Amino acid sequence: MRVLVLGSGFGAIAVAHGLERRLRRGEAEIVMISRENFSLFTPMLPEVSSGEIDVRHIVTPVRSQLRRTRFILGEVKALLPRERAVQFTHILTGDNEEVQYDHVVVAIGSVTSTFGLPGVAERVFALKTLEDAGILRNRLMWLLELADAVSDEIERKRLLSIVVVGGGFTGVETTGELVELFRSVVRYYPNVKRSDIRIVLVEGGASLLQGLPARMGEYSQRDLVRRGVEVLLGDGVASADDQGLMLASGKRIETRTIVWSAGVRPNPQLSSGSGLPLTKRGLIAVERDLSVPGFPGVWALGDSAAIPDGAGGTYPQTAQHAIREGPVLARNIVATLRGEPTMPFRYDALGMMASLGGRKAVAELPGRRVLTGFPAWFLWRSYYLSRLPGLDRKLRVAFDWTLELLFPRDISELRIYSERAQSSAARDAGLVRRSIPDGTAGAHRTPDP
Ligand SMILES: Cc1cc2nc3c(=O)[nH]c(=O)nc-3n(C[C@H](O)[C@H](O)[C@H](O)COP(=O)(O)OP(=O)(O)OC[C@H]3O[C@@H](n4cnc5c(N)ncnc54)[C@H](O)[C@@H]3O)c2cc1C
Repeated sequence: MRVLVLGSGFGAIAVAHGLERRLRRGEAEIVMISRENFSLFTPMLPEVSSGEIDVRHIVTPVRSQLRRTRFILGEVKALLPRERAVQFTHILTGDNEEVQYDHVVVAIGSVTSTFGLPGVAERVFALKTLEDAGILRNRLMWLLELADAVSDEIERKRLLSIVVVGGGFTGVETTGELVELFRSVVRYYPNVKRSDIRIVLVEGGASLLQGLPARMGEYSQRDLVRRGVEVLLGDGVASADDQGLMLASGKRIETRTIVWSAGVRPNPQLSSGSGLPLTKRGLIAVERDLSVPGFPGVWALGDSAAIPDGAGGTYPQTAQHAIREGPVLARNIVATLRGEPTMPFRYDALGMMASLGGRKAVAELPGRRVLTGFPAWFLWRSYYLSRLPGLDRKLRVAFDWTLELLFPRDISELRIYSERAQSSAARDAGLVRRSIPDGTAGAHRTPDP
């Protein structure tokens, strides 16, 4: 008996933990296939992009988190539910392989969406992967170095104009972090004045942090504007080119750096061709117990799945939900193996938080109550530190935060990123391929246990 878990993010790790806890020895083998050998703590990505947290401190190796799970570093290519098999390419060898399953859990998350807008995918800096955060941080350092070197003031100002697109929690947090980064390091660049730096936050909706209590968006907007950010509401991006971007209203912003946090879409990798039931948005439509109807042994959760909330809607795609869905899904697989009934996923969200940088944040508490400013920031830090997997990672991040109170941020420009600086936005739009060697060894079959 084999349970295959696809992905190593919030949902996948939670499922594997649940399976390790519930399965008796010898009852089933657990195998995880993911294209990364770590899990990424996305809520701290904006802080990595601004250099507040070291790039390695928000990832935790899969092998140190799971003891009874066999891990394979592979990019999943196809799910064949009729054959009960998954095809994948080994990331390092490039071998194309196939593995059989009795149960499979789809937890491969979402990808950046630039909605097919002309010129956008190939130019923007996304903030979805660890590599994205490293590339963006390096870009910001590169911009400062270049701005310090150019004598033309107009060009310097264009270099230091940064546009963040998307006023959800990622966009708001990233904007706040950019402000803090420049505030902390501008003194090292004698030819750069603070007034040369322009940060614009563009949001298509009428307010920031849409879907959360209005006070949170209003507070965030006031705080960012007070710290020098231009917030443009009710205007979306129409297109981008090398010198800037065009908004739907016809307004143009000259910039060489666009940070994209305007949307994600379900990872299309497995949905296309697998025959699984999909919603209009491309999410895998699952039952309340997280099983895929009509496909015995197939389960999905997290950003890949549309999970009915029992009130006519579906649960939101957040890490908060994925880590609660995991144990229920694991329990239901084990129940199915033992011929017992499954249970539905039920969860009342705790609320959402967004850090604004500068020791400010906004937080939604149970009952739609709102906390703002320093207390919310303290809550944000304490909560996310407690959720970071592994004591060593917690300590490393706590140490990074402490150092940041005492020293300015690191301004090294790391060439390791500039060599293969491909934002995930371009890859997700199909404009660049992942750097996996072509498989040459044909299809291998992983032997059954
Ligand atoms: C910058 C940022 C900040 C966020 N902040 C918050 C927050 O504060 N609170 C919150 O609740 N949510 C937050 N989220 C959302 C949260 O990250 C997602 O909802 C959550 O990660 C979904 O979990 P998942 O397991 O479905 O997918 P993920 O965690 O994205 O995991 C997907 C996994 O699948 C792997 N994978 C993908 N494709 C393949 C393939 N073809 N083959 C093999 N492996 C594959 C990936 O490597 C990854 O390991 C944030 C997201 C971002 C980008």
